[in-house]
Amino acid sequence: MEKGHISVQTENIFPIIKKFLYSDQEIFLREIVANATDATSKLKTLSARGEVDGDIGDLTIDIILDKEAKTLTIRDRGLGMSEAEVKKFLNQVAFSSAESFLKKYKDDATIIGHFGLGFYSAFMVADKVEVVTKSYKKSVKPVRWICDGNPEYEIETTKKDFRGTDVILHINDESTEYLEKSKIEELLVKYAKFLPFPIRFGTKTE
Ligand code: ADP
Ligand code: MG
Repeated sequence: MEKGHISVQTENIFPIIKKFLYSDQEIFLREIVANATDATSKLKTLSARGEVDGDIGDLTIDIILDKEAKTLTIRDRGLGMSEAEVKKFLNQVAFSSAESFLKKYKDDATIIGHFGLGFYSAFMVADKVEVVTKSYKKSVKPVRWICDGNPEYEIETTKKDFRGTDVILHINDESTEYLEKSKIEELLVKYAKFLPFPIRFGTKTE
């Protein structure tokens, strides 16, 4: 297990997020599903170029609600990430772009709601975010990244059978509405209706 420190200037941008974005919290699902869609599109492009071994299989994006565990998981079968990519894209890109975006627009929640905060918006509703990912490249080891939104994160190699990425949101105590099936259904209708890939929504305890 390796521990690291995310390279952002501000020690913790949560207070800003919580304060200014409260009314727009629900956009987290749009952002995470958009990333899952992007990853799936990229996989398709790579496959069309002959860069993916074998059949790419089912590309359905799964949304899995586990009320007991208090988690909401967004699972794609996209291109996945290597350890280096997780460090680059999540630790550096996602965090620093969220930080600069907030600095610029922190007084205008409408703008943030409109353009989104990307991956980082997950921390509006989750006190911990876990990413388990396996690259489409056969020789690359799957990794698990965990972060509580502070600049500290943990990353380790893990087991994952299928290519793609699971983003596991550990929903915080103030956001339990996102553990309700009807709420997630409502948001999927709102934000995920016209996507190029099928979306399947299920609950674990059914
Ligand atoms: P953006 O989507 O605008 O690039 P985000 O903050 O939403 O910014 O995501 C940061 C980066 O993390 C993405 O550009 C992508 O490289 C990577 N990423 C996020 N989610 C996934 C995913 N499900 N699969 C693969 N890569 C991802
Ligand atoms: Mg994005």
